[in-house]
Amino acid sequence: MKTLKSLFVTPEIAPWVKTGGLGDVAAALPEALRSAGVDVRILVPRYPALREAFPKAKLLTRITGLEGQFPDCALYSVVVPKKVTLWLLDAPELFDRPGNPYLNAAGQDWPDNALRFGLLSRVAAWIGSKHSTLSWHPHLVHSNDWQGALTPLYLQLFGGGSSKTARSLLTIHNLAFQGLFGQADLAPLGLPDSLWTLEGVEYHGYLSFLKAGLQFADRITTVSPTYAQEIQRDETGMGLAGLLRHRSDRLSGILNGIDTTIWNPETDPWLPAHYAEGQIKSKSLVKKALQDEMGLQGTNQMPLLGVVSRLTTQKGLDWLQVIAEELMQLPAQLVVLGSGAREMEADFLTLAARYPGQIAVRIGFDEGLAHRIEGGADMFLMPSRFEPCGLNQMISLRYGTPPVVRTTGGLADTVVDGVDGFCFSEETPEAFLSAIRRAVTAWHNAAAWKKIQRHGMTRHFGWEQAALQYAHLYAEL
Ligand code: ADP
Repeated sequence: MKTLKSLFVTPEIAPWVKTGGLGDVAAALPEALRSAGVDVRILVPRYPALREAFPKAKLLTRITGLEGQFPDCALYSVVVPKKVTLWLLDAPELFDRPGNPYLNAAGQDWPDNALRFGLLSRVAAWIGSKHSTLSWHPHLVHSNDWQGALTPLYLQLFGGGSSKTARSLLTIHNLAFQGLFGQADLAPLGLPDSLWTLEGVEYHGYLSFLKAGLQFADRITTVSPTYAQEIQRDETGMGLAGLLRHRSDRLSGILNGIDTTIWNPETDPWLPAHYAEGQIKSKSLVKKALQDEMGLQGTNQMPLLGVVSRLTTQKGLDWLQVIAEELMQLPAQLVVLGSGAREMEADFLTLAARYPGQIAVRIGFDEGLAHRIEGGADMFLMPSRFEPCGLNQMISLRYGTPPVVRTTGGLADTVVDGVDGFCFSEETPEAFLSAIRRAVTAWHNAAAWKKIQRHGMTRHFGWEQAALQYAHLYAEL
């Protein structure tokens, strides 16, 4: 059988550039695909972190004369040890700037994001087109989220229309981020005015990258079966439900996995002690160390609730403000690691100041602390209003830290109420509190709690299953 070749296009990749789950996916899925027999290259912008990590990356080619206002750019290649080859898209004026890949230091979108991620999509399509001068030619281009979502359109416009043009697959990791720009961006992106229609890229007066992708991709996937259904409903489809229903024969959900070599409580280098299913005693040492690290009272008389998250309304964590008083009286401790919306950050800091020793908050992005909260907390909170897949609940299951989740998207597909975690469905702080109460009651019954922990710790959340499903889809395409 011919080896399938896929170009995986991503705006972030762990551990170098990561703002959320997509960074983890981009690090793990291509690797799992390779194990499943697919020949994968990853295309990612050459941000400063990647420039520094791979100073010896080899120049592959220069790309000049693209349409619109795209600058000349270049591709650099590096083979990461035991990993998939990275192709770094070098365009210093667009990508060689410090900080977050999408936001400036003030937390606003970089003003030239249309051109930045338009170029990522355009170069992906160039690699998949018959005009590419590279010797490696993909059968399909697998792009992710709005940042890669113009790729299918560019393939149609500039692919060359021959059998040498790659097919396109777009994966939606979060429908909330749609890449909305103005009509004035059409020309700089090399897109003709004729696309300014309902069937083109126009979306309520905006140019929508994501809509273009959904419109023109050969296939669309999202990151859990339940989310694939939810986004086709008007209430939860973020304005794109109609289009998604129209394309439902091309749409499916494939559940993400977690990297079980990184997320393993038996070996996790970020943990001060290690434990496993059946030998879980040392988990209490991790809890004690976490309490010390965060300035919490060193007690095991009450459960420690953990949160690691982007702080946005999506995650439902604002409900913690409403129920904090009741939580404290349960009693319980709370540790929060997160960053995002400035007011939410401030609200959590205020909460920590009100309950010293019982609530601890760290604002920022901290890989090590994220691991220690997964390991050291007794239960993990994810009350998301919506959640395309969610990785943390799978991690917490594996770490013997049963999650309390709202039954939505990937949370509904991964947590079984009363068996390995605790679920609620109503979008209210009261429903959330009542699920936490059930969890806390179970925690006080040592035998019952061990059983719940065991169920979670013995589940399989690796990438193998997802990789096989993607490989199957690739083959169909
Ligand atoms: P999303 O992609 O919506 O942010 P996911 O649950 O899919 O949510 O993935 C989030 C990933 O980012 C997880 O690996 C989580 O541990 C990590 N993460 C989120 N916030 C932080 C933070 N402040 N510090 C460290 N890791 C974080």
